Amino acid sequence: MTIAITPLEQWIRRKADIAPGLQGSSFVKALLDYQLDHLNETIEYARHNSAFYRRHLAACTTAPLSNLSDIVQLPFTAASDLARDPFHFLAVRQDDVARIVTLRTSGSTSQPKRFFFSDDDLELTIDFFHHGMSTIVRPGQKVAVLLPSEQPDSVGDLLIRGLRRRDATALAYGPVRDPLQAMREVSSFRADCLVGIPTQVLSMARSPLGPIGKGCIESVLLSTDYVPQAIVRSLEEVWGCRVFNHYGMTEMGLGGGVECEALEGYHLREGDLYFEVIDHGTGARCPDGVIGEVAFTTLTRRAMPLIRYRTGDIGRIISEPCPCGSVLRRMGRVRGRWDGVVRLGPEFTLTLADMDEVLFLLPDVLDYRATLAEIGDGRFRLDIDVHRAKGGSTTVRKILGMLHEIDTIQKAIANGNLEAPFVCFSAEGRWTTNGVSKRRIVYAP
Ligand SMILES: [Zn+2]
Repeated sequence: MTIAITPLEQWIRRKADIAPGLQGSSFVKALLDYQLDHLNETIEYARHNSAFYRRHLAACTTAPLSNLSDIVQLPFTAASDLARDPFHFLAVRQDDVARIVTLRTSGSTSQPKRFFFSDDDLELTIDFFHHGMSTIVRPGQKVAVLLPSEQPDSVGDLLIRGLRRRDATALAYGPVRDPLQAMREVSSFRADCLVGIPTQVLSMARSPLGPIGKGCIESVLLSTDYVPQAIVRSLEEVWGCRVFNHYGMTEMGLGGGVECEALEGYHLREGDLYFEVIDHGTGARCPDGVIGEVAFTTLTRRAMPLIRYRTGDIGRIISEPCPCGSVLRRMGRVRGRWDGVVRLGPEFTLTLADMDEVLFLLPDVLDYRATLAEIGDGRFRLDIDVHRAKGGSTTVRKILGMLHEIDTIQKAIANGNLEAPFVCFSAEGRWTTNGVSKRRIVYAP
């Protein structure tokens, strides 16, 4: 099967006004020139219109930058800056704000973050969704949107408006609260494509008596949280479908990048965003291929421009060219967040992603909660509360067996830093998977 080139390349070519004749390295050079122009414009615009950047960039004498690599001379913007005073970031009159999104970090008492978008900003997102989805959905197909879509300009609503431009029909279902009921609705709608949150879509695929058989669902797009490969493989197996990953966060204007048919990392929304990967500890720029923290700068946003915003996500730029033949850069699949990396004593670190890749291999695990407690003398206890499909046969022994396959867990136990994990199954009905917040290892109080 030939792999179609990402539609983002043509889309970015038009946006950046790059002549059709410019190919390969000439295309890349023209795109970098476009990004440098828009970066300099953004710096100037933010300095003049946002109280935060007027102060934050006051000492910066290097702008306008003569090269994109000079961006390293600009200070980062942290999530805590946003939480402290979001209105200081506002670069338009309040009358020109079309949508405000408030984000609360689950399980934390920190200040909520607020994001402002103008009508033009929202249009940029709809346009990205329209073109990004064209790699996944053909005109005339039906898409069940399992993301919040009730509110005007919510992520689901913007996606549905983008899909309309693709001549696709959408079902605004919303997050999955009852997998069986979701399966029935999706089935009677005759969806060709599902867009949803990884564990919620998995719970549909693994629901007993699910009415959708192999071959009915052509494609799935997973979004909102990082995507465990074990979930991707499971959906491919159950439905015989292609599973695409989307990367984005509210800060990016919801959309950041999407995989092409090669399914090997996201092509990025490079006409609207400039991405960097930086060392999580030092902030220095990482070479391509090296894992670090994703940071980005908005190139076209009006209401709330962000410059070198640190996302906290673990990512890397893929240095090899994409099998689809595009010259656009790709980012490897994000594997969670830096603040989701927990320490088991001085030597060992563990992430939820490590556990996902083994626990979701078990065919009736729908989701689980991992809670870590420090029990003194540098020792930790890990509790795993598993949500198992109704009638599932996975045992505590099987789960422990899988957990012991994780090198870090094995070594931390052998070293005396970690007790043998405690596993239990949550009582039916007690489990809620309807949230849209990102999953993480929870620290016991
Ligand atoms: Zn590609």
